[in-house]
Amino acid sequence: MNEMILLKLGEMVLKGLNRRSFEDKLKGNIVRRLRPCGDFRVYTRQSTTYVEPKDERADVEGAYEAMKKVFGVVGLSLARPCEKDKDAMLKTAMEYLDDRLRTAKTFKVETRRADKSFPMTSIQLSQYVGGELDEAYPNLKVDVHNPELTVYLEVRDYAAYVHADPELGAGGLPVGTTGRAVSLLSGGIDSPVASWMVAKRGVALDMVHFYSYPYTSPEAKEKVLELARLLVPWCGRVVVHVVPFTAIQEELRRKVPEELFTIVMRRFMMRIADKVAHRIDAHAIVTGESLGQVASQTMEAMGCTGAVTGLPVLRPCVGMDKEEIIRIARRIGTLETSILPYEDCCTVFTPRHPRLRPTRAEVERAEEGLDIEAMVQQAFDQIERVILNLGA
Ligand code: ATP
Ligand code: MG
Repeated sequence: MNEMILLKLGEMVLKGLNRRSFEDKLKGNIVRRLRPCGDFRVYTRQSTTYVEPKDERADVEGAYEAMKKVFGVVGLSLARPCEKDKDAMLKTAMEYLDDRLRTAKTFKVETRRADKSFPMTSIQLSQYVGGELDEAYPNLKVDVHNPELTVYLEVRDYAAYVHADPELGAGGLPVGTTGRAVSLLSGGIDSPVASWMVAKRGVALDMVHFYSYPYTSPEAKEKVLELARLLVPWCGRVVVHVVPFTAIQEELRRKVPEELFTIVMRRFMMRIADKVAHRIDAHAIVTGESLGQVASQTMEAMGCTGAVTGLPVLRPCVGMDKEEIIRIARRIGTLETSILPYEDCCTVFTPRHPRLRPTRAEVERAEEGLDIEAMVQQAFDQIERVILNLGA
């Protein structure tokens, strides 16, 4: 075997009793993400997960890219295994890392020795391999404090591994370890970022999208499905519940004072999301709201929308500036799709002067003439479910 992947596991190793179930969940997530890349053997020892290709056809580079999006992995690197012998490790380093060894100016060797029966200490092995490399490559100088290149040697139970340049992983907790939530996904920049942030904390997500055909176009819906698709490599399988919202919006326009239209509409979104959550055994609702960003995102407005559900409403972007949200959107790959210019249902019938500080009492009064239950039920019954899988 030429090359394999080492994954360093994150904070779940601190969870004591839960550790085993966290590891199992993470392993399942890893195995599913690897499936489109071929056959791999996956096993965990001492906070490291080893991903080994079973044959030549496996796409190791593709697998490596996929592993960067697995929550629960804090660091990763490509590595080459070899015999547990000092000269085998030296030879492997010289072959596998030749390009890097030729071009770097400073380097050091760092050894981790899990196999305590190995005849050399970590320091002895580092000194031996470091000394030989220093001689073999005249361009290289040892710098233990700030080296350009660190050669890692890991002596494990069954083999040794040589690698360099570990990268940061996605961090967070394995998806599925902290339960399930529904995330309100619009076509904007914020809600995909909010979804990603909650998934990062181990939450499996179903998406809910409100769709106002013919006021919003089929392209607008396709854009939201594309955003959900972009989240699948991070979140795993995602179900998007597409809710036809036009009838509710038209009814609200007829019966609700214009300045309260948006806030009442958002209460309907919450009621429907709450119903979806109960159907799928989810325990929170996620939104991309950010304090003060628009009229419907004041504390008073959030109080009015949150009041119609007994579930916690998670708003991970609440304290973030738009710039910070955009930075994450760029990093996770959703920004370009989010900024495509399609209309959202929230822009349909937008009041000219929305109430900034609505009270619960006035909002409830505005809803008095509505058959709330029937409206919610009717929309709920017409939900279309789109299932998005990995590698599909
Ligand atoms: P975003 O960038 O996420 O669209 P926004 O700044 O445009 O957010 P709003 O339009 O007020 O803000 O929406 C606030 C939140 O309400 C969104 O982040 C999203 O979670 C939810 N939301 C808005 N419109 C929809 C929709 N059509 N379907 C599902 N959720 C929506
Ligand atoms: Mg929006």
